[in-house]
Amino acid sequence: MPSDHEPGPLEVPLGAEVEPTIGAEECRAALRSAALLLDGVERALVALDDGSYGRCQVCGTAIEDGDLEADPLATRCRQHRPSGAGRPWDGA
Ligand SMILES: [Zn+2]
Repeated sequence: MPSDHEPGPLEVPLGAEVEPTIGAEECRAALRSAALLLDGVERALVALDDGSYGRCQVCGTAIEDGDLEADPLATRCRQHRPSGAGRPWDGA
């Protein structure tokens, strides 16, 4: 019975180069927007805890249900949302 080492399926040849599929700039941009999104989620969780979730940061008015459905991270009512902003978590 031979007990020689058999190469496993996970072995990668030494010196093999892995090609990046996106550039450094694209990667930075993707990480930046992921960080902003994460920040918005964390703020929403804090707001849920302290009972301020769904209320405008500026005037305290309840944000409309439809708006929260469209963007659960919305932090401002229609009146106080920066114009043209599709990403309310950018503001503050
Ligand atoms: Zn408001």
